Amino acid sequence: MDVVQATNTEAKQRVQELRQLLQKASYAYYVLDSPIMEDAVYDQLYRELQQMENQYPELLTPDSPTQRVGEKPATQFISVRHNIPLYSLENAFNIDELKAWEGRWRRQAPNVGEVEYVCELKIDGSALALTYENGILTRGATRGDGVTGEDITQNVRTIRSIPLRLNVEGVERLYATSLQRIEVRGEAFLPLEVFKQINEERQKAGEVVFANPRNAAAGTLRQLNSRIVAKRRLDFFAYTLHIPGRDDASIANTQWEALKLLQQMGFRVNPNHKLCFSLQEVAEYYKYWDTQRLNLPYMTDGVVVKLNSFKLQEQLGFTQKFPRWAVALKYAAEEAPTRVENIAVNVGRTGALTPLAQMRPVQLAGTTVSRATLHNADRVAQLDIRIGDTVIVRKAGEIIPEVVQVLQELRPDDAQPFVMPSHCPVCSSAVVREMGEAVTRCVNASCPAILKGAIEHWVSRDALDIRGLGEKLVHQLVDREVVHSVADLYDLTEDKLCELERMGKKSAQKLVEATAQSKNQPWSRVLYGLGIRHVGSVNAQLLSEKFPTVEQLAEASQADIETVHGIGEEIAQSVHQWFRISANQTLISRLKDAGLQFASAMEATAVSHSHQKLAGKTFVLTGTLPTLKRDEAKALIQQAGGKVTDSVSKKTDYLVIGEDAGSKLAKAQELGIPQLSEGELLEMLQD
Ligand code: NAD
Repeated sequence: MDVVQATNTEAKQRVQELRQLLQKASYAYYVLDSPIMEDAVYDQLYRELQQMENQYPELLTPDSPTQRVGEKPATQFISVRHNIPLYSLENAFNIDELKAWEGRWRRQAPNVGEVEYVCELKIDGSALALTYENGILTRGATRGDGVTGEDITQNVRTIRSIPLRLNVEGVERLYATSLQRIEVRGEAFLPLEVFKQINEERQKAGEVVFANPRNAAAGTLRQLNSRIVAKRRLDFFAYTLHIPGRDDASIANTQWEALKLLQQMGFRVNPNHKLCFSLQEVAEYYKYWDTQRLNLPYMTDGVVVKLNSFKLQEQLGFTQKFPRWAVALKYAAEEAPTRVENIAVNVGRTGALTPLAQMRPVQLAGTTVSRATLHNADRVAQLDIRIGDTVIVRKAGEIIPEVVQVLQELRPDDAQPFVMPSHCPVCSSAVVREMGEAVTRCVNASCPAILKGAIEHWVSRDALDIRGLGEKLVHQLVDREVVHSVADLYDLTEDKLCELERMGKKSAQKLVEATAQSKNQPWSRVLYGLGIRHVGSVNAQLLSEKFPTVEQLAEASQADIETVHGIGEEIAQSVHQWFRISANQTLISRLKDAGLQFASAMEATAVSHSHQKLAGKTFVLTGTLPTLKRDEAKALIQQAGGKVTDSVSKKTDYLVIGEDAGSKLAKAQELGIPQLSEGELLEMLQD
């Protein structure tokens, strides 16, 4: 999160709050192995603190979390002092930050030309420092705070991939060097499958589950009972080799060679490391593993980029916390903290009022996020979110970002609670919240916000698919009162459109054409476009199949509608009610006049077939028919495409006869014209 330009007192307060929270998180994470926040959230808050300390150096203290590695362990293990401190790694969250890291080390070593980088996967486990004397494992220790760790040798011995005795003979023969005392560092981790299994067992036993494999690994390593550790099947990848007097070039000059040597000594080295000759290649490796890592049987949270040359590593050295020659390039997080600057209310096309948190922009899952939905008043109350709060936003997959938690510890004194407005923020009419509903709604049908939403929905891809009618244009049309309903779109002319801002003749012409084209869209899409609540495109399709014309649907009872497979009571009620509203009936009739499709193609063909059935045939009616009135029979014949005349002639095809037929019958008999009863006529119509 960027640092706000704050007054000194405000900055002091924020720094103190951040420190308190980070310390609490760090203790929960390192000592209790039970984190209280996601790593990404911790990282961002940490960054904010770092930036504030840069901006206000007088606020920097040696006990700040930015100045320390890990935590001092608080367990019953014996403390051990590391001969060489175990540092943490500097973080970069994207390629730009990777480049910035390169810029920094190059400023320190300005004469260095092209370099090699070793890229390794950042295994999400717990660091171990292993000491071997004359080839025998004599000590295994945790990192602790980097200077002091815990002696967990007993537990380390249970990890099968850690050799108790090194394969030094081969190595010594190879390098003609005696490896009397060496230190190997690497990551102990739990394969995902084992992690899952442990948590399942813990859950069954009513124990607290581990938040992630890293905490599970760290917790397991600090188990007092080594037999439990042995059962947990920890694994280990080695990545660092310290050999006293390693400047001896005969052993290893580079990280690449060291990894090879570690393998020869009998360690498991993660096979996915790569030698890269440019940052471009590093970026490709990073990108490749962003997706591939999901197929690995263990967790990685990034890649570690190290300068290959030990000579250059030595030249660059360490800061208080990190080596300058390495960086952890982390993967985009799905959660991040940011600050709520305002809570606005959005009115959607259904009239629903949605509170929206407007936040300081934050990088989330590869995109910049500055707004998040708060859903409704209940959710706001449940989160107890206030303007000024620091919150955690989440964006997983395609889902709209949402606020998942408020960091109460960081709440400023002047944080303001949110109150759902009693009137629509767009049209000022009173809003309604029905009993048992979570949603507050504006019920004014002509509310511009509802109208804008309705038009945007009507023109959307799955509805009438009218290209060139984007959000800005829709807003202009509504705000300038050119359009008051979707039906008005069909009255738009090029001239009218050209009066709008940023609308050229060509675009206007295209838009008019696109609007005209939409008249060919099928009835199912028109139905979806009407935006009836709960009628999405699938339901629209289902309804249009069962009710091939708008009349059939409009006249159907709620029970009729419910007979459609997949349509429940709520949807049926919503559809039924929609057609009872007179404004909606007017809309349908206007859209019909404009030429939109309100009958399915099948129905249209059926109708046209029945039109065709008696096409070209001429009928004469005589006498009284048993059930049909003369007019009704006439209409039926005409609807089926036939013609009805008053007198019999050679052109007459059929004479329809009823009781008391008169002279027309005689004439027809004379001319040999076939006769039909009412029943035969109806049969003919039905065929
Ligand atoms: P780190 O985990 O970000 O990076 C350093 C560690 O990476 C090393 O100690 C080593 O154990 C590991 N590593 C894995 N693969 C490696 C490889 N191939 N080469 C070298 N090292 C490798 O740093 P850290 O100091 O252990 O922890 C800081 C991180 O811990 C923070 O970024 C944060 O994400 C997390 N943290 C989280 C909370 C929380 O509340 N969630 C609290 C404190 C710290």
